[in-house]
Amino acid sequence: MAKLTRYLQNIGINGITKETQEKLFCAKVIVMGAGALGSGVIMNLAALGIGQIKIIDDKVVDEEDLNSQLIHKYKNIGRAKVISAKDWISDFNPDIKVEIEKTRLNELNYFNVIENYDIIVDCFNGIETKYMLNEIALRHNKILIHGYTQGFIGQATTVIPGKSACLSCIKQKPAMLEIETYPSIASANSVISSILSQEVLKVLMGGCELLTNKLLLFDGYKTGFKIFECTKNIACPVCKDIKEYGKIQI
Ligand SMILES: [Zn+2]
Repeated sequence: MAKLTRYLQNIGINGITKETQEKLFCAKVIVMGAGALGSGVIMNLAALGIGQIKIIDDKVVDEEDLNSQLIHKYKNIGRAKVISAKDWISDFNPDIKVEIEKTRLNELNYFNVIENYDIIVDCFNGIETKYMLNEIALRHNKILIHGYTQGFIGQATTVIPGKSACLSCIKQKPAMLEIETYPSIASANSVISSILSQEVLKVLMGGCELLTNKLLLFDGYKTGFKIFECTKNIACPVCKDIKEYGKIQI
């Protein structure tokens, strides 16, 4: 693996060992969206030492994005967000292999996009793409880590195919935010993106308590977290026939 020096201070934290860091370095994580939420996730995954990160986004950096999309620098206005994000990782942690695709995920291209990746982090902001991603992850036995922010608030959950409630199961919960394209502040995105990144870490560590069958809600305006218990809906049209999740091969 890459040099361990930069991760030495992780060793010993809640059971993180050199072997854990090696496992992280062998992991392949795909981040859907390089906007506000994606920025924080990408930065955290790069700091953790996730060895292979793929970034999907179809937009270019706009000056208006700079209020919340921390990975993009002023000099990158007008460049593709995926290139801007890749540049940031290369500067920060050149040991990480970065794949990028400037594309919009759809039913035709998704398989090529997700193939070879173990964990999908949902940082999209459109409702259709989020539910499409939920279905795609379930169909292909990938762990989905879902996040969403609006204004000062945000939510997160982790979906393990065949084992835990999927987004469609959870949407019956009144607590679940109505997903719409809505601006959000940088700090709320930092909170939720950190939680999503921790879920990635804990999935890879194994044996950790995850946000499965749970919906975490963060309210930065009132300053508080709430966790709502969720259950898998046995009649869920999206996940009822999904076979049990097999261990990720990394
Ligand atoms: Zn479901």
